[in-house]
Amino acid sequence: MPYQFSCSGGNCQFMIRSSSSDEVKRLVRAHVRMTHGGRIDQSDLERGMERIELA
Ligand SMILES: [Zn+2]
Repeated sequence: MPYQFSCSGGNCQFMIRSSSSDEVKRLVRAHVRMTHGGRIDQSDLERGMERIELA
């Protein structure tokens, strides 16, 4: 089951979707570091991650 994360930083349009939760976390961390110049809390990451079902 794929995982999805939408960045909620300002008007950021970043969205990632992957079948691997580890990959989603890795890419979100890289995005936050490069685009927002900061880091994301583990809890925020977990909360922002959604499991999506494909029809
Ligand atoms: Zn962002």
